[in-house]
Amino acid sequence: MAPIREPPAIGIDLGTTYSCVAVWQHNRVEIIPNEQGNRTTPSFVAFTDTDCMLGNAAKNQVAMNPTNTIFDAKRLIGRKFYDVTVQEDMKVCPFRIVQGEYGKPMIVVNYKGVQKLFTAEEISAMVLRKMKEVANTYLNANVKSAVITVPAYFDDLQRQATKDAAALAGLNVLRLMNEPTAASIAYRLDKKAGIRGETNVLVFDLGGGTFDVSLVTINKGRFEIKAVGGDTHLGGEDFDNRMVEYFVGEFNRKERKDISRNPRALARLRVACERAKRILSSTPLTSIEVDCLYDGVDFSSKITRAKFEELNMDFFNKCMETVQMCMEDAKWVKSMVSEVVLVGGSTRIPKVQQMLQDFFNGKELCKTINPDEAVAYGAAALAANLSGKGSQMIKKLTLVDVLPLSLGYKAFGEVMAVMIPKNTPIPVTIEHVVCSVFDNQTSFQITVYQGERSRPTDNIFLGEFVLSNLPLAPRGATKATIRFDIDADGIMNVSAEEPTTGQGNNITINKRRLTKDEIERMLEDARRYKVEDQEYEKKVDAFIVLEYYVYLMKTKLRDENIRKMLSNEDFLMMVDVVTNAMQWLHVNKLAEASEIEDKKKELEYVWNSVVGLGQSTASLYQMPRFSHITEFWELLRLAGAFACIAMLLAREKHVVDALHRA
Ligand code: ADP
Ligand code: MG
Repeated sequence: MAPIREPPAIGIDLGTTYSCVAVWQHNRVEIIPNEQGNRTTPSFVAFTDTDCMLGNAAKNQVAMNPTNTIFDAKRLIGRKFYDVTVQEDMKVCPFRIVQGEYGKPMIVVNYKGVQKLFTAEEISAMVLRKMKEVANTYLNANVKSAVITVPAYFDDLQRQATKDAAALAGLNVLRLMNEPTAASIAYRLDKKAGIRGETNVLVFDLGGGTFDVSLVTINKGRFEIKAVGGDTHLGGEDFDNRMVEYFVGEFNRKERKDISRNPRALARLRVACERAKRILSSTPLTSIEVDCLYDGVDFSSKITRAKFEELNMDFFNKCMETVQMCMEDAKWVKSMVSEVVLVGGSTRIPKVQQMLQDFFNGKELCKTINPDEAVAYGAAALAANLSGKGSQMIKKLTLVDVLPLSLGYKAFGEVMAVMIPKNTPIPVTIEHVVCSVFDNQTSFQITVYQGERSRPTDNIFLGEFVLSNLPLAPRGATKATIRFDIDADGIMNVSAEEPTTGQGNNITINKRRLTKDEIERMLEDARRYKVEDQEYEKKVDAFIVLEYYVYLMKTKLRDENIRKMLSNEDFLMMVDVVTNAMQWLHVNKLAEASEIEDKKKELEYVWNSVVGLGQSTASLYQMPRFSHITEFWELLRLAGAFACIAMLLAREKHVVDALHRA
C-alpha cells in the first residue's frame, strides 16, 4: 500500500545486542513492535547460501551458522583493526575479522557461496534498515528521518561511522544522541509533571555491550548532564563470556575435550549461557543443556546465581567504582541523588541492583521505565521535538552536554590557563583578557590544550594560531581578548582580538572525542600528580614574580631621573646585575620555587642597597638614591667579584651586616 501520510521522525536505539525503535504519536511515545510482536530486535545479521537474515531470524540460527552470523558490529564501528578492543574482541568472536583498507576491520562472511567482506558500517546499516522497515510497516509510511543513539563515550570516528551507516540505510540523522541522555528524557516524560524543581538523577545503563553512568540534573524540561562515565566494553556479553569460559573448563575436565577453538560449539554454548543468565535473574539455580555440544557428546550442568555472581564480581565492582568516580567528578554526594534510574537489560541482575542500592545506602532504585526501551523512548521524544511535533512538554526539552575535560591555553610561564573547567555545560562562550609580557610585543601565540594538568604539555594539544601585527607598546599595555566558544554539537572556535586595532584571528577546533579510557587516564593523572602540579604552579608563580621584578629593574634603569641619581659605576654595575639576572632567568626556568625566591631576594637586596636601601619592590618607581653605597661597590669591584656580587650579598652574613652598618 502506498504511504498515506507524511512520515514522522523515529527514534532508534541501535544497541550492541538489541535495537529498539519508537515514535511519537497519539500524544505519547510508542515502542514499535517487530513482525513477531517483540519490542526489541536483535542487532544480528546472518548470511547463508541463499539469504541475508536480520533480527530474530538471524539470532535464532546463530548456533547453526556461527561464522556467518554477525553481531556486535557496534563494537567495531569507527574503530581500527589494531585497536586493543578490536584485537580483544577477535579472540572471542566466532566470525572472522581481517584488516581492510585504511586499517578498517572487515567482517568476512560466506554469502551465496562467495566470500564477502563487510564493514561494521554496512552491517549496522542493515540493522538500521531493518528497524526502519519495522517502523514503516507499523506506521504505514516511508520514514526518512531519525534520531539515533550512541554510547556517551563514542568518539568522533565512531559517531561519524554511525551516521554513515544511517545514510547507507537511507536515513537522515536529525541528531546523534547519547544513550543516557535519551534514558533520562524517558524518565522525565514517564514522571509527567510529577517532579517539581531541580532533580538529580543517576542513570545507570548496563546493556549487552556498553556501560554508561550519567549524572543528570533535570529542571523545568532542561536536562543538564553534570558528568558522564562508563566503559565501552562492559555488559551482558562479558557476563555470558565468563559463563562460557566456566563451562568450557567444566566440559574439558569432564570429557577431556577442548571446545575453546570450535566456533560452532562456543556459539551454541553462548546461547545457552545467555538464557541461563536471564533465568538466574529470577531464580537462584538453573540448569544448562546442549545436545551434541562437541564430538557427539551432550553437555548438561547446573549453575547457581551465587556462582554466576562470583564469576562476574570484578565486573560488578568495576561498575560501582565507575559510579563512585562519576559522583566525585560532579562533586555530588550520595544524598544529592534523588533518583537512581536503571537502564539496559543487564540491570535486571539482582546482584547489580543490590550493589547499587547498597552504594546509595539502601535507596529504592527507579525501575518504572522498561530498561530495554528507555533509550529508544527518549530518542523518539527528541525526534518529535526536532521535527516540530510532540506535546508542550516535549517541546520544552533542552539538552545540555558537558565537557569531559577542562579547556585552556598556554599562558606565560608555561602554565595552563583554564578557560572552561571540565563538566561545564555546552554551548558555552568564555572570554579572557591577556596582556603583553614583553615590551613591543607584536604577536600573541594562542596554543589551546585540553586537560587537568598545570603544565600545558602534560595535556592534549588541540591547536594554535598567532595574533600578529600588534601595535608597539610597553609590556602590559597591549591587550587581547581570547574567546573560547563551543556550540551545541561540541565544535569549538577559539578567537583572539586586539581591540584598538581590531586585529583578530581564530581557529576552529574539531576536538577529537577522547575515549572514556583516555579521559579516565587523564583525570587519574591529574589526581596522582596533584602535589607535583601544585609545586609546578608555585615555581611558575615565583618565576613570574621574579621575571616581573627584573623587568621593573630594567625599565627603571632606563628612567632618566634614576639614571641621574646613580654614579656611572653604580649604573653600569646595575646594568650588569640586570643582564645577569636575565640570563639567570633564561637558564633557570626549571629551578625550584625556593631558589627563584632566593634569587629575587638577592636582587631586591642589591637594588635596595644601590638604588634605594630599605625600599620595597613596589616603590621601585620612586626610589631615592643613597650615594654612600658607592664606595662599598668600588671595593668589591676591585676584589674582582663583580659578577657574583648579588649572590654574595645575600648569602654572606658579614657582608650584609657591613652593609647595614654602612
Ligand atoms: P544493548 O543496548 O547494549 O544491546 P540491552 O539494554 O538491550 O543492551 O541489554 C541486552 C543485555 O541485557 C544482553 O546481554 C542480555 O543478555 C541482558 N539481559 C536481558 N535480560 C536480562 C535478564 N533478565 N537478566 C540478565 N541479563 C539480561
Ligand atoms: Mg542499550
